[in-house]
Amino acid sequence: MLIGTSPLVLCHALDRSLRGESIRILEERRETGGAWRTVDAFGCGGVEAAVHLIENRSAVHRALSQLGVPLNPPAGRTGALLGGVEIPLALSRALAYLGVSGKSVLRGDLGRAHTALIGLGRAVREYRTPFLYPPRGARQITDRLLQLLAARGVQPECGIRVRQARRLGCGACLVETDHGEFAARRIAIASRAHCRLRREDRTLDLSLRTTSLECIALLLEGPAPSFDYIEFHGRTTLRRARNLTAMTHPSPAPDRHIVSVEIRAPAAQASRPGACEHAHAAEALATLQRAGLVAPSTMLIAARIERFEVRTIPDWRMRRIAREECDWILPMRTTDFGEELASALGRLQLASHPPTQSTRHAAEMPPPEEDREGARKDFSADSPDSLGGAAHEASSSRVAS
Ligand SMILES: Cc1cc2nc3c(=O)[nH]c(=O)nc-3n(C[C@H](O)[C@H](O)[C@H](O)COP(=O)(O)OP(=O)(O)OC[C@H]3O[C@@H](n4cnc5c(N)ncnc54)[C@H](O)[C@@H]3O)c2cc1C
Repeated sequence: MLIGTSPLVLCHALDRSLRGESIRILEERRETGGAWRTVDAFGCGGVEAAVHLIENRSAVHRALSQLGVPLNPPAGRTGALLGGVEIPLALSRALAYLGVSGKSVLRGDLGRAHTALIGLGRAVREYRTPFLYPPRGARQITDRLLQLLAARGVQPECGIRVRQARRLGCGACLVETDHGEFAARRIAIASRAHCRLRREDRTLDLSLRTTSLECIALLLEGPAPSFDYIEFHGRTTLRRARNLTAMTHPSPAPDRHIVSVEIRAPAAQASRPGACEHAHAAEALATLQRAGLVAPSTMLIAARIERFEVRTIPDWRMRRIAREECDWILPMRTTDFGEELASALGRLQLASHPPTQSTRHAAEMPPPEEDREGARKDFSADSPDSLGGAAHEASSSRVAS
């Protein structure tokens, strides 16, 4: 039994399914994708609910290409603004990791500092690797994984919240949900997709760290924004922004554009119910205009706010759960998306699965209609039979579960 439907959890689900295990995925929301989900907004579908970046790691690019997910270099301005000065995105990422490690040391959170320092090392090593992104957005990763799972007869069950998982004396596990109780052999939890865990009569301490994030999708009217993805350092309301216009379907009207922004925590707290959400959207637009990322004549037509309450099990706690509760809990560390995605996709052993038409570089990409046709072909090629090779390979390295 797996909780949640982020791409990382779906990778693990596919891995387990390829090993011949019988799996079930429960998701409390109506939509799949976790933090990477898309929403319908302003009459367009496929609007990313949050601002995202796929780190520039060659292993991630290789793994995604093997999975059949196309990746594009940025079409517009991409970088970071540090006190009004534009710096390369690679430098911005290194500075961000350095900042997190420094703050974590000051707070005494050495585990987090250690993780951030590893991230800093990778950012330096991969400094020259480009930042790539799927042309229709990160949803393409989730969709591809869902497609492969569906070909194996696995479909996430949405709208079901797991309230608690309990290890019974007999060694089995009882999963309590809003829709009744299920028996399971083991329960797989992720850093941000979990539930209360009870072993016989004691509740496990998950040492949860809670953070709030606020993202706003802006529908703008005016000249096309000049950027793809931008980060902001220093005392600005915005943390980062991504131009989503090319990723939505249908696209907005020709003179309209969809930009998603992530707001810094103090502003997010100020916009609790009762505060004027529109004011935050207007402030975000003004910041983008001051930075020269959108034209001064651009007007705000509508805004859609999404709040994320992120409850993270720290990595050190996940490691302890892996050691002490391995007989009934499978903990999946998902705090480093890039690293985990590369290793999870690597485990899938899809190498025998030839890259499909959709793996090609953007320049070779067919127009949307054909692409959809191509995706249908990929799907039929992913019949359980054609995945059998990968499944066979995987089952030969099967571990007792
Ligand atoms: C707003 C935001 C932006 C981010 N941006 C980036 C980025 O740009 N780059 C990057 O590398 N990483 C980013 N991350 C990190 C991201 O959290 C991880 O990459 C990854 O998505 C974590 O996977 P997860 O499954 O642990 O949690 P999530 O992706 O948060 O997914 C959790 C899912 O589990 C479901 N769920 C939770 N509890 C239960 C329950 N009890 N029962 C049933 N369902 C449940 C939730 O509804 C949700 O769909 C971002 C995170 C957030 C929140």
